[in-house]
Amino acid sequence: MEELLERLLEECRPYAQQGRVADYIPELSKARPDTLGVYVIGSDGKHSWAGDCRQPFTLQSIVKPILLLQALLDNGVEGVQSRVGMEATGKPFDAINASDQSLDSGHINPMVNMGAIVMCSLIHGDSYAERFQRLLELTRRLAGDGEVGVDEAVYRSEKSHGSKNRALAYLLKSYGLLEGDVEEVLDCYFRACSIQVDCRSLAHIGAVLSNRGRLPVSNQRIFPSGLARYVNAILMTCGMYDGSGEFAIRVGVPAKSGVSGDIMAVVPTRMGIGIYSPALDGKGNSIAGIQLLERLSKELFLSIF
Ligand code: GLN
Repeated sequence: MEELLERLLEECRPYAQQGRVADYIPELSKARPDTLGVYVIGSDGKHSWAGDCRQPFTLQSIVKPILLLQALLDNGVEGVQSRVGMEATGKPFDAINASDQSLDSGHINPMVNMGAIVMCSLIHGDSYAERFQRLLELTRRLAGDGEVGVDEAVYRSEKSHGSKNRALAYLLKSYGLLEGDVEEVLDCYFRACSIQVDCRSLAHIGAVLSNRGRLPVSNQRIFPSGLARYVNAILMTCGMYDGSGEFAIRVGVPAKSGVSGDIMAVVPTRMGIGIYSPALDGKGNSIAGIQLLERLSKELFLSIF
């Protein structure tokens, strides 16, 4: 496996030159575009990796499936579905997902920013500090790393350049689709996007989802299997934003990307995969990362289709 990862990594490295590092959050623009790392955790508990896989980066949109899981654990399926829908938007991650006439909870997708902002308001807890702490604890368990924390510089950068997300949140509020204090909910969203991980943590999150809610090796259950099916289905249909259809054809597994250049892929019953390469395509997905996953999928027959 390691040899295969090394070979694919060298084949895919040049693709990074075709992409661009995100700069709309200034702190993210400091990433080195030639970085490329991959980490795989198999259902047998075997770890394999290649490249810059211990380089830290922020979760960004990969926090969305974690937010969805937290929202489902706290509110149940019906509780979540009354606030956030299930259908792909086919639009960019920061788009206003619906026209004014049809802005209702059924049109809010959990894998784009509007849905993620709503899900921040669904986390249970007596105070904002407690609600964020619960999300962080769930992230640590999923990542298999009790040290996971927030990158404060990215958090400050997100917060001071978050006009679009503020606009989305206030629009939701004006339609009665967002409970609670808007600035507090936004703060939770900015902090959540700024949680720092590496390829190993992403592979671990993917491995738990691929193992339907159980930790690899120990098989300890951390959430019900029905919720893994829910999250994986949503990842399959909209985890790669408006590139999800093409990704389903080229790679064929549930996955989530983030604008830091990270991708977390779930191969049901087989493995979790974490990739980092910050140069992005026009839709905000890691360009070398998708190439790498496409090749890995072909070599190991990973597509579920
Ligand atoms: N923090 C980013 C934003 O809100 C997350 C988006 C992403 O990763 N696509 O714009």
